[in-house]
Amino acid sequence: MEDAKVVEAKDGAISVASAFAGYQEAVQDRDHIFITKAVEEAYKGVECGDGGPFGAVVVCKDEVVASCHNMVLKHTDPTAHAEVTAIREACKKLNQIELAECEIYASCEPCPMCFGAIHLSRIKRLVYGAKAEAAIAIGFDDFIADALRGTGVYQKSNLEIKKADGNGAIIAEQVFEKTKEKFTMY
Ligand SMILES: [Zn+2]
Repeated sequence: MEDAKVVEAKDGAISVASAFAGYQEAVQDRDHIFITKAVEEAYKGVECGDGGPFGAVVVCKDEVVASCHNMVLKHTDPTAHAEVTAIREACKKLNQIELAECEIYASCEPCPMCFGAIHLSRIKRLVYGAKAEAAIAIGFDDFIADALRGTGVYQKSNLEIKKADGNGAIIAEQVFEKTKEKFTMY
């Protein structure tokens, strides 16, 4: 199909543009698949009573290496956030301390601790669904809110950071509204 588009295009600029558009679409579809999985993890974690409504997926060469949710309540560990848990599991599975080939998909914008863990693990790309404000809006208190707010925007790093758009962003934002009743703030 892409070939057909290129043949139809009469000048070089257009054919490059349509090929690029095709590439962008493919990237978005791919991102959507993995962000959806991170959102599913967020729901799963609340269902099991393991912790807050947050999920994270580590992907290496298009394959899911680790798919985890917040385990703060289950492990009685305030650092057992979805992203940290997923990084630990991915490192263990791949038997390496650097995840330079990997990407991480987080249902919500990572907090500074998780951002630090992503940075330390050398993960090359972060895609997150909901903005931290969506978690704050359902009542994460000021203490947690301060830790959550704006990392994806303000932290400096060589990491490529992308906020999911379209349907990926919508389903990620819905997590908080939908789990509000089931999840008691810790
Ligand atoms: Zn975190």
